[in-house]
Amino acid sequence: MIRKSNRRHLQTFFCLLGLGLIAAGCVPTRGGWDVQSLPANAKVDAPLKSSRIGDLLPQLRPDDLGLSLFLCRWSKETPILVALPSGADARELRLLRLALSAWEKAGLGVSFREVAAEEARLEIVFPRRVGGASLGSGNALADCRLDLSSADPEDFEAHLVWGSVHIYRASLSWKGHAVPLEDDELLGAILHELGHALGFSGHVASGRSIMVKDTDQVRQIARKVAEGQPLPAPELVALYGLPSGVSVGTRSLSGPSRQAFVALAEEADRRSWQGPYSRTGDRKARFFYRGQSGKTHGLTVENWSMTLRDHEPPEIVAD
Ligand SMILES: [Zn+2]
Repeated sequence: MIRKSNRRHLQTFFCLLGLGLIAAGCVPTRGGWDVQSLPANAKVDAPLKSSRIGDLLPQLRPDDLGLSLFLCRWSKETPILVALPSGADARELRLLRLALSAWEKAGLGVSFREVAAEEARLEIVFPRRVGGASLGSGNALADCRLDLSSADPEDFEAHLVWGSVHIYRASLSWKGHAVPLEDDELLGAILHELGHALGFSGHVASGRSIMVKDTDQVRQIARKVAEGQPLPAPELVALYGLPSGVSVGTRSLSGPSRQAFVALAEEADRRSWQGPYSRTGDRKARFFYRGQSGKTHGLTVENWSMTLRDHEPPEIVAD
């Protein structure tokens, strides 16, 4: 048996042995789970093995064992209903549609249909940058709806049902003046944030992918996409080749944390809240329900990526 603390060293050791053959897989994964842990009946094909899907921060749900980790994506059965920003000008609309079309052709099997804001399941908005708000060019979130109605855990259903992409159309100069993004910067930001909204939480540690954190690389990829080249997103191709809801591991919970999840489920039942939903990001993971007004009620796991990577006991915080 391999002790947890030695896992990463062993991984590095084996990577060094195989250097040159499996170089792409040699940077330790960031998602805290192993592609080998996928159930035998999950479709494991070439893009899955050669991609950095292991960098994806999984979704969470409480169960008898503690916290169950799983992957979640949009259904491919129907087009994703998307609303474009209301104030977008002709140039921005061209870049937004170019980004959506690039994702449709990236090999995931998803398609989009433009609709009015009220009908949308995925909104793209251009928020105003307020004061010292995030220095990045955007952010995104995606909510995974869990269907816990089946008693059989193997029969677990989950899909992304709502996404929101925020793109800042301008960066701030050192004097605090708004500087509009160039075409490749704006296209890169839209492509990258759409990747998060399509289910890739976190960033890939290496390789050629729109899901790298480095903005120069993202910009370079956007330039190639604008020239007609395909959008590189191997880990999203891998994600969409797997069944949504597929389990990728578990984490144990302390008694009080487990009790907090039980109490939340009981309250949700009593108040007929909708859900549950899971939403994960680099810093936090959230398991929640929606009340009648749309307000969310749930539990948050702090330091999600660190919790996953270091196999630390999850630190649960109530609303
Ligand atoms: Zn990102």
